[in-house]
Amino acid sequence: MLIVMKSDATDGEIKAVLGVIESLGFKGHPMPGATRTAIGITGNQGAVDPSHFENLGGVAEAIRVSKPYKLITRDIRPEKTVVRIGDAAIGGDELAIIAGPCAIESRAQAFAIAETVRRCGARFFRGGAYKPRTSPYAFQGLGEEGLKILAEVRDAYGLKIVTEALDEAGVDLVERYGDMIQIGARNMQNFSLLRRAGKARLPVLLKRGLSATLDEWLLAAEYIMSEGNYQIVLCERGIRTFTQHTRNTLDLAAIPAVQRISHLPVIVDPSHGTGKNYMVTPLACAGVAVGADGLIVEVHDQPDRALSDGAQALTLEQFMQLTSEVRAIHEVIAPATVS
Ligand code: PEP
Ligand code: MN
Repeated sequence: MLIVMKSDATDGEIKAVLGVIESLGFKGHPMPGATRTAIGITGNQGAVDPSHFENLGGVAEAIRVSKPYKLITRDIRPEKTVVRIGDAAIGGDELAIIAGPCAIESRAQAFAIAETVRRCGARFFRGGAYKPRTSPYAFQGLGEEGLKILAEVRDAYGLKIVTEALDEAGVDLVERYGDMIQIGARNMQNFSLLRRAGKARLPVLLKRGLSATLDEWLLAAEYIMSEGNYQIVLCERGIRTFTQHTRNTLDLAAIPAVQRISHLPVIVDPSHGTGKNYMVTPLACAGVAVGADGLIVEVHDQPDRALSDGAQALTLEQFMQLTSEVRAIHEVIAPATVS
């Protein structure tokens, strides 16, 4: 059920609707928009009777929702969500660039990379402290030590920190040291982790699962939102197909497909999406050209010595080149509004 309020509905009328939703044992999610507020209802197993709401003050319409998702859709919020992190944003006019190593390996490595990331004008620094590795014998990340290095990077360069939480305890730690919680492809359907992220005070970067359909991915976002965290960015990072020329197949058609259904920002990861250094910049450009709100890119000061994902890491010089190319494309497809 979706309650659409009249454009002149008062705060008191919105509160009254929320009160009725609560008294029925459900949860109300008010989504203020440019012209009106809509209120999503979750927690109901079956259909909710619209007559509970139709005659309340300020209510324009009570609409039955037949789609599997309720909160991530443009039905409830026609305008795009802008995820704000301090003075930086994803989903706004500016192309968001998140860059950094796959894993934090040392303070010196993180600082060498962050210096270039900052100099190129990116606002977000990525780096895993906890790594979901295929082999239990591969480098697993520095753990909390890595998070402390990331916090130092934030203080030194003013970059916002995006880092992965592998489990619920990891969310507590990212909340302590970071600015945005990454949920990795392998965890996209870890429902207890999604629910915990839904209670977090930080925005969430939700990567698409290795073989997830669009519906599964959007429903994973719905899990987070249904717990009350509306600050979610989706990330297309490639899916597994039969191709052998790339690590994954970057599904760029997912960008307009997501944007048609959802108000959430969506970004592209050309690093995991290709697995190959020489493909990262072309696919980053393509991602921006199809309308992505941003990019997440792996960069290393010494890719040949990287402890994880070296083959797809850009050098510092290549990253500088990438930023100028993608900005030129973004300027063509979404020209900055001159005031
Ligand atoms: C990563 O960002 O380093 C990562 C592990 O990504 P994904 O979950 O997309 O594989
Ligand atoms: Mn990686």
